Amino acid sequence: MANITLKDIAHSYTGASNNPDDYALKKLNLTWRDGGAYALLGPSGCGKTTLLNIISGLLTPTKGQVLFNNDDVTRLPTERRNIAQIFQFPVIYDTMTVFENLAFPLKNRGRSKTEIEPRVIELAKMLGLEKDLFTKAQHLTADAKQKISLGRGLIRQSVNAILFDEPLTVIDPQLKWELRSQLKYLHKQFGFTMIYVTHDQTEALTFADEVIVMFEGEIVQVGTPEALFERPEHTFVGYFIGSPGMNIVPCRLQGRSMLIEDHEITLDQTYKEQPDSAKIEVGIRPEYLRLAPAEEKGLPVKIIKVDDIGRHKIARVAVNDHTFHVVMPEISGMTGDTASLVFDTAHTNIYVNDHLITGEQS
Ligand code: ADP
Ligand code: MG
Repeated sequence: MANITLKDIAHSYTGASNNPDDYALKKLNLTWRDGGAYALLGPSGCGKTTLLNIISGLLTPTKGQVLFNNDDVTRLPTERRNIAQIFQFPVIYDTMTVFENLAFPLKNRGRSKTEIEPRVIELAKMLGLEKDLFTKAQHLTADAKQKISLGRGLIRQSVNAILFDEPLTVIDPQLKWELRSQLKYLHKQFGFTMIYVTHDQTEALTFADEVIVMFEGEIVQVGTPEALFERPEHTFVGYFIGSPGMNIVPCRLQGRSMLIEDHEITLDQTYKEQPDSAKIEVGIRPEYLRLAPAEEKGLPVKIIKVDDIGRHKIARVAVNDHTFHVVMPEISGMTGDTASLVFDTAHTNIYVNDHLITGEQS
């Protein structure tokens, strides 16, 4: 097994070009630690599959290097990289039985029957396929077929990494949760490096120790699920993670205060003055906002809507054209549709041109 390093990787499907718009992947640098459980999270089209294919060798990047430990594998074919890849749709042999499908990657590498059998049976049990072991794959449901694909990826214990490209897309929602927990368990047990691609934040956050968030061909943040929630480094991360996502609203900075429209809110930090051309925004999660009666100190807002979603309420409020979501256990004591919006300043982030900036404690 190995650390996998991407060094100045960029990829354009139309060949080398000087136009950044031609690149499905902009410049990427990242090391995947041996044995880590990673999620690669981002919207459709941001470059996740392109990145996986570069790691597995299905694609040669236009620029940069792929290193396994210190060995340059950029131009090595897939077969020589010892990587298992599981795709969105099942890749199996329809006319083979489940057993034969699972055994294939080991048989192909000349392993003995005594080694293969117990391993196939163990995996089939874990994936809930044992009762179908001797059924031909073509007679099984899409769910079961994808489980075979997962099994074929997991069967070899000596791989450098297992790459999952949105593997649960075709799986029934109820089964998804179960399979994800099994993958987590297998990771703990066998310690392979796992890179799990998804556009679903819940999937990413429950699977991974570390999440890589991609947006438009770039990595915008690498962090633990907590860090992505508490300190999004890019407005996209704030918006993409959380439900509802982070509120991001234009503001101006003035010493230790920020101004939203013309209302001043005192912050915990002092921020450096920014050029006039800079786009300055405040980002705060709905969980860190509170609605108080209009007489209390805060940002005067108009309540547009309150939804009761069981455990808590979600209010949508507005200051002129700017809207915020507020999540509270209970919303009461307000008269009419006006209220004061109170910021938890310890969790108030400032973004300049979409990037988080830090101020100075004063
Ligand atoms: P994701 O997996 O995050 O949905 P992809 O890596 O598949 O994203 O795609 C990233 C970008 O590259 C998209 O704009 C997509 O249209 C483009 N792309 C992907 N595969 C090809 C290809 N074989 N030829 C040309 N463009 C491609
Ligand atoms: Mg994809």
